[in-house]
Amino acid sequence: MRARPDHQETSPTNSAASFSRRQFLQSSAATLGAMAVLSPFSTTEGSSLVNSAIPVIDTHQHLWDLNRFTLPWMQGPAKEILGKDFLLPEYREATSQVPIAQTVYMEVNVAADQQTAEAEYVFDLCERDDNQMTGAVIGGSPQSGEFKSYVEQFMGNEFFKGVRTVLHDADRKPGTCLKPQFIENMKLLGEHDKSYDLCMRPAEVGDAAELVGKCPDTRFILDHCGNMPVTKLNTQLHDDWKAGLKAMAAHPNSVCKISGIVATAEESGWKPADLAPVVNECMDTFGEDRIFFGGDWPVCTLRASYQEWYSALVEITQDRSESFKRKLFCENAQKFYRLPKVNA
Ligand SMILES: [Zn+2]
Repeated sequence: MRARPDHQETSPTNSAASFSRRQFLQSSAATLGAMAVLSPFSTTEGSSLVNSAIPVIDTHQHLWDLNRFTLPWMQGPAKEILGKDFLLPEYREATSQVPIAQTVYMEVNVAADQQTAEAEYVFDLCERDDNQMTGAVIGGSPQSGEFKSYVEQFMGNEFFKGVRTVLHDADRKPGTCLKPQFIENMKLLGEHDKSYDLCMRPAEVGDAAELVGKCPDTRFILDHCGNMPVTKLNTQLHDDWKAGLKAMAAHPNSVCKISGIVATAEESGWKPADLAPVVNECMDTFGEDRIFFGGDWPVCTLRASYQEWYSALVEITQDRSESFKRKLFCENAQKFYRLPKVNA
């Protein structure tokens, strides 16, 4: 069994450690400056496009250690690609050509009885000075009466930014997010200034919009462009999704995460232009102040390397203004998830 040095130390908690963490983020910023000088670069795979001077906040960083956590959803063909450990060394390698400034951990839908352990694991990573993780969105079950005591145990932790539940699992029926218990728990998050990431079937974005409207003091993120597949020409689904997007965007307490959809592209030969209609629909519906980038690595590797997904989005947005791109790749996420300032 190979060693996993990134998991073996306990977290430093004193102020010296947080100072060295700041130094780490600053040295990352210096590295970004160096990348700007070296860019544009090309890779052996995919496009060579890069927004050389724009630091990137990856708002959707998954990591998993299969010895530590059970991922009940990991079945079928996806398991061949995703059924191994994905940890910080692999993330660093996958993003070596992307100017990552900070990351937000995104929960990985572990077995429900492991949610607390997952949260503790990532808060520990956030405290350490060997990575760029500055916040975490932890798993949680707001459909349950135990949600309140579960989240309240973490309220004092500065790295706790929000909660997500994958709502498209087979045992989570349409309408789950509109149950009274669920709505009450969303309001609880808002009272504590925590956000909620909505990850659901594209036809149910309209339900999510209704939830967002019922909880005006809670900040919501629609993950993965509402999970609209980029290849299926299903008109009814497309219309439902589009109406849902519009309904959600009408509520100012919602934003859209531009992520995930590359995993639905054609298995071979997909082009950035294939992703553009879904991406542009989201960007134009929510507007430039309410969108931000997410890597969704390693799930993106079902179709694309991290670099390919990032480059595709750079290409899709190449005619947008400089300030639009800064908001998309960095500034909006920093504000929305309450992250440290990016000095680059
Ligand atoms: Zn994901």
